[in-house]
Amino acid sequence: MRKNRLPFYVLFLFVTIGALVAVFRENNWYFLMFAMIGGIGMTSVMLTDRYPRLSQTIRLIQLSALGIFLFVGLSLRLNVNFQFPEVIFDAAAGIVSGALVQLLIARAAVPFIFGNAFCSRACWNAVIFEWADQGRKRGQGRSGKKRSEFLAWGYLAALVVLAVIVSHWHNPVYDDTARRYWLIGENLWIIVFGLGLTHWLGRRAYCRLLCPFLTLSGLISRFSVFKITPVNPDACNECSLCNSACPMMVNVMETVRERSRVRDRQCILCERCVDACPQRCLKIAAGNPLG
Ligand code: SF4
Ligand code: SF4
Ligand code: SF4
Repeated sequence: MRKNRLPFYVLFLFVTIGALVAVFRENNWYFLMFAMIGGIGMTSVMLTDRYPRLSQTIRLIQLSALGIFLFVGLSLRLNVNFQFPEVIFDAAAGIVSGALVQLLIARAAVPFIFGNAFCSRACWNAVIFEWADQGRKRGQGRSGKKRSEFLAWGYLAALVVLAVIVSHWHNPVYDDTARRYWLIGENLWIIVFGLGLTHWLGRRAYCRLLCPFLTLSGLISRFSVFKITPVNPDACNECSLCNSACPMMVNVMETVRERSRVRDRQCILCERCVDACPQRCLKIAAGNPLG
């Protein structure tokens, strides 16, 4: 990952997506937006190359810049909530929406290449969760709970049912004020509920246990090109610092022991395990998507 052409691949990918969406939506704003996302991503990767010791600080600044840009510059500006229920509201109204486009690109197409990296580099809710995390001790959360697929899919199903009911009762698509209230209200809910869960169940608890986006993109990230990869597995001394550093409770040490790449659907490519490893056993690397 370091000292390579990845920054330019990142920029190329997002500029290409931006051009396609701009043509499809007949709006040049999308090109500018995706070029900006690619530019911020590229700068972040280049800075991390140059200052590897500062990689988590650089990532946090990048996440904050992108998250705030996407929320203020896009979501509030266009009065479009890119959360999951918006897709159902638009579908009920027969609209191909920005929310659906975002879902298809960020949650379906990009994960084939960069896995769940959106969750560590661009999600605006994650900005709050990550800053809240700064004051906490490294560790795997108080209860040590891993994601329960039953709970995660149940939460997603409940959201779908709620969105279908709301769309039949008073679809926010047809009312700008209702749309704005829904946008603010849903994001506030995720942040307040998410911070509460974090307090009781450990770091990134909302992401780890419930977030419907991760429930979906996790299915695809299993097949992503870039994954956390053991590069020096013989040097591993089983200190478990990689596991302690992981906010998503991935058992990185086990994958190093097995000499396999991290295929866990929860991995958000935050590179905390990479930075925590004293033996330099890990890095993000491209490889066989099935491996
Ligand atoms: S899991 Fe959901 S809330 Fe958490 S960073 Fe990813 S998209 Fe955002
Ligand atoms: S396995 Fe590593 S890169 Fe993946 S979420 Fe955990 S710490 Fe982050
Ligand atoms: S931090 Fe590095 S040395 Fe320690 S268990 Fe993980 S991979 Fe092995």
